[in-house]
Amino acid sequence: MQDGVMREWLETSHLAGGNVAYIEQMFEAYLDDPTAVSDEWRKVFDALPSDGKATDTKMSDVREQFREAAKNKLKQSGGGSSVSDQKQVKVLQLINAYRFRGHQHANLDPLGLWKQDTVPDLSLDFHELSKDDLDREFNVGSLAVGSETMKLKDIHNVLENIYCGSIGAEYMHIVSTEEKRWIQQRLEGNLGKAKFDKEQQKKILRELISADGLEKYLGSKFPGAKRFSLEGGDSLVPLLKALISRSGEQGAKEVVIGMAHRGRLNVLVNVLGKKPQDLFDEFAGKHGESKGSGDVKYHMGFSSDFATPGGDVHLALAFNPSHLEIVNPVVVGSVRARMDRLGDKVGEKVLPITIHGDSAIAGQGVVQETFNMSQTRAYQVGGSVRIVVNNQVGFTTSKREDARSTQYCTDIAKMVQAPIFHVNADDPEAVVFVTQLALDYRNTFKRDVVIDLVCYRRHGHNEADEPSATQPLMYAKVKKHPVARELYAERLNESGAVSEDDAKQWVQDYRDALDKGEVVVEEHRPMRAHSVDWSPYVGNDWDVEYDYKVSAKKLKELAEKISQYPEEHKLNSRVAKVYQERQKMAKGDKALDWGFAESLAYATLVDKDVHIRLTGQDSGRGTFFHRHAVLHNQEDGSTYMPLNHIREGQGQIEIYDSVLSEAAVMAFEYGYATAEPKSLIMWEAQFGDFANGAQVVIDQFLSSGEQKWGRLCGLTLLLPHGYEGQGPEHSSARLERFLQLSADHNWSVCVPTTPAQVFHMIRRQQLRPVRRPLIVMTPKSLLRHPLAISEMDELENTGFQNAIGEIDSLDPKKVKRVVLCSGKVYYDLLKERRDREQDDVAIIRIEQLYPFPAEEVADIMQDYQHVKDFVWCQEEPQNQGAWYSSQHNFWAAIPSGAQLTYRGRDASAAPAVGYLSEHNKQQQKLVDEALTIK
Ligand code: AMP
Repeated sequence: MQDGVMREWLETSHLAGGNVAYIEQMFEAYLDDPTAVSDEWRKVFDALPSDGKATDTKMSDVREQFREAAKNKLKQSGGGSSVSDQKQVKVLQLINAYRFRGHQHANLDPLGLWKQDTVPDLSLDFHELSKDDLDREFNVGSLAVGSETMKLKDIHNVLENIYCGSIGAEYMHIVSTEEKRWIQQRLEGNLGKAKFDKEQQKKILRELISADGLEKYLGSKFPGAKRFSLEGGDSLVPLLKALISRSGEQGAKEVVIGMAHRGRLNVLVNVLGKKPQDLFDEFAGKHGESKGSGDVKYHMGFSSDFATPGGDVHLALAFNPSHLEIVNPVVVGSVRARMDRLGDKVGEKVLPITIHGDSAIAGQGVVQETFNMSQTRAYQVGGSVRIVVNNQVGFTTSKREDARSTQYCTDIAKMVQAPIFHVNADDPEAVVFVTQLALDYRNTFKRDVVIDLVCYRRHGHNEADEPSATQPLMYAKVKKHPVARELYAERLNESGAVSEDDAKQWVQDYRDALDKGEVVVEEHRPMRAHSVDWSPYVGNDWDVEYDYKVSAKKLKELAEKISQYPEEHKLNSRVAKVYQERQKMAKGDKALDWGFAESLAYATLVDKDVHIRLTGQDSGRGTFFHRHAVLHNQEDGSTYMPLNHIREGQGQIEIYDSVLSEAAVMAFEYGYATAEPKSLIMWEAQFGDFANGAQVVIDQFLSSGEQKWGRLCGLTLLLPHGYEGQGPEHSSARLERFLQLSADHNWSVCVPTTPAQVFHMIRRQQLRPVRRPLIVMTPKSLLRHPLAISEMDELENTGFQNAIGEIDSLDPKKVKRVVLCSGKVYYDLLKERRDREQDDVAIIRIEQLYPFPAEEVADIMQDYQHVKDFVWCQEEPQNQGAWYSSQHNFWAAIPSGAQLTYRGRDASAAPAVGYLSEHNKQQQKLVDEALTIK
C-alpha cells in the first residue's frame, strides 16, 4: 500500500524518536476531523486507504501499520515516548475543542442574559494540560495563526479571541474538509477580527446613527404608531450595506431581499433608499393613486439601485405578508428567474438575502423546506445569505423554554451543513467581519450560510405594546442598556478614530436630513431602465385580443418532432407504447389524447422562443403516467426531452420533479413568475388536494398579490381533480376554495374537458398579454377516457372555449331540461344520456368557472329560452365544488322565470367517501337525478 507515504512520514516527522501514542492519537484526531491536524499530516493520512474509499484495506490494518512503523522508528532511534509528545497531542485536541465548541463560550448576548453551560472541553484540565505547560512551546498543528509553534498560553489566548469573542462560529458540522479549512483560515488568520481603517469605522458609525436616528424620529413624530422598530438590532443596517456593497464588488448585478416586519421600515429608508417623506406620508395615512386595496407599510416591497465598487446593483425587497418565513422561497424563486434571465447558471450575478426572526426560523416548517431545496437542480441559486435578527423573544414568547427545543434558533441550517456565524450585534465591526466572511463563503462554495445577529428588542412586539408584562427581567436590562451607536461611538472615541463632537454632529446631521425628507442613502441610485418590461401586461383584462391560431402544417411538423426520440435511447416498454401511439396521432391516424395535446401546446410555445418551466412532484412523467415529457433510458438512466429538440435556438422547456413539498415550491414558482413575465411557469400538484399544504401561498400571494401590491403573476397551477372513488384525499382539488377567493378578476379558474381545450388553455395563458394566475382542475381518468379525445383540426383555429354547448344533435325544441356542469361528470352524464337514448336533456359545460363567461353562456342559452328546468350538476358534495360560489352566475345565465336546482352529493365534511362501492352508488345517483325528469 502506501509505503512511499509511510517512508516519507518516517523520514520527515518532526517528532524526535517517533512516538507510537502520538501517532495513534494524531491519527484518531484526524479521523474525528481531518482539519485537526496540520496540512502535512493530513496529506499523509489522506493518502491512506480508508473504509470510506473503495479499497480492501481495513482501517484496523492501517492503524496496525502505523503502530508497527512507529515502533521500528522508536527502536532505530533508541528514543522513548516523551511526555512532551503526549502533551502536544493534547494541545491539538484543545485547539480542536475550541473549533467545535468555542461558540458556546462566546460573548454573543448584548444583554448578557444568556445562561451558557460550561463546556469542559475548553479547559486546560480537561486535556490534562496544566499551568506548568503554559510557557512551553507547542506545535500549533493546523491553527492558521501564522506561526508553526507557540507557547500554550498564547495558543489559549488566540483561541479565546477567535472562538469566544463577539463571534461564535459553528462550522465543524460541515463534512467538506476544504470548506472547514477555508473557514478556519479566514477566522484564525484574522484572529477572529477584521481590521477596519478609520474611514470604514466612521462609515459603520454613521450607519448605526441612521438606524437609531430613524426610529427615534418616527417614535417622536408618530408616537404609538406601529413601526416594528429595529432598535436593538441596529447593526442590521451596516450588515446589509456591507453585504450589498461586497456582493456588487464580487460581480452581483441584482440582490433580492426578503424580510418580515421587524426593522423593515429602517431597511427601506436606510438601505434601499426609500424617501423618508414617502414613509412619513404613509404614517400620516396618505397613499398614492392605486387601483388595488393596498397593504400596511411594513409589508410593502421596494426597488432601487445601489452603487457598489463593482457597479450599480439592483435591489428588490419582496412584498411580504404577515406569514413569517413564507417569503423566503418567494425570494429564492425570484432570484432563479433573474439568474435565468442573466444567463447565470451558478448564482454569480444575483444574491438572495433572507432575513429571519429567531422564533420564526426555528418555528416555521417552510424554513426547512427552503433549506432542503437549496442544492437541488430545480431550485438552486448558488446559496442564500440568511440573516437572523435574533432579538431573543417572539412577541411575548421567551426563547429557550417555549420557542424552541434547540440550543440555537439556527440549528435547522445544519441540515444542509450551512456554516452559522453567531455574532453580538453590539459589536458592529464583528458584524461586518462575519458578513464579509459569510458572503465570501457563499460566493466560493455556492451554498447557504447563516448570520445569527444576536441582539435584543428595545420595545414590545410593536411600539404600543408593554414588554415588561411578560419579560420583566429582560426589559429591566434593556431599559438600562445603551444603544449600539453610543457604545460604538465611545469605542471610536477611545481609540481616537472619531471625536465625541463629530459623533454628536452626525446624529444632528441625520435628523436634519430626515427633516428634508429626501433620500438618506449615499449609495442610492435611481432605478435604471429595468431589464424586464411589464408594461405590455399592465392594465389588460381578460378580454384583451391575442393571436391563438396555429397552422395545420406547423402542428403536424411539431407533432412529428415531439413524438420522436433517438433510437439508442431505450424506453421502458409501456412508455415506448405511448410514443408509438403519439406517432400515430402525429400522422393523423389516431385522435389526440390529453398528454399529447398538452405536449403539443408546449411545443408550439417553445417554437415561438418561449421559455417554459414546469415543476411538480412527478411532472416529468406525470403522476398518472400521461405526460412522458422526460424519457428515461432503460440502459443507462440518461434522460431525453423531445420538446427540447425541436429546432436550434428554440425556447427551452424545463421540467423538474420537485422536492416533496407544496408550500415552499409553490412559493418559489410564485416568486419566479412575479419576476419573469415572459416565461410560462407552471406548478403541478401530485393530487389537487395536496395544494392545501401551500394554502398560505394561495391566500396570501396568488389570489391577492396584484390587489394588495400591484404585482402581476402568471403562474399556472395544475391540480388533479375528479371523483373516481379514490377516497377523501385524492378526489378534490378543493375547487370551492379557489372560487371563494375569486374576485376583482384576480385569476382564472378552469376545468377543461378535452385535449383541445387543454391545448388552447395553456397557449392562452402564455400568449394573451395578461399575467394573472391560472388555476386548473386537471383530470385523472379523463387522461385515458375514450370520449375525451380531440382531432388535430380542433387545435388550429379556435381558441379556448370558456363554455361548450351541447355536442350531440339534439333538437333544442325538444329539450325540457338543461344541465350545466364542469369537468369529468360531463362524460358520465353524456354516456348515461346516450345509453338511455334520451333527447330532452341538453348538457352545457362551463370550462371556465371564473371569470364566469356570461356572454358565451348567454349565446349557448339562446336555444333554450323556452326551458324552465335548469340543473347544476356536480360530483363534489353540496358544500363544496362550484355550487355555493358560482350559483349566482348560473342564476344570472338562465332565462328569467326558470328554476335552477342542484344535483350532486349531499353536503359532507369530508371531500369524498372512502369506500368505492359507496362512491359508485353516489355517482350513479347524482347522474340519474340530473337526467331524470319527473
Ligand atoms: P424588481 O426587479 O422586482 O425590483 O422590479 C422592478 C420594477 O419592475 C418594479 O418597480 C415594477 O415597476 C416592475 N415590476 C416588477 N415585478 C412586477 C410584477 N410582478 N408586476 C408588475 N410590475 C412589476
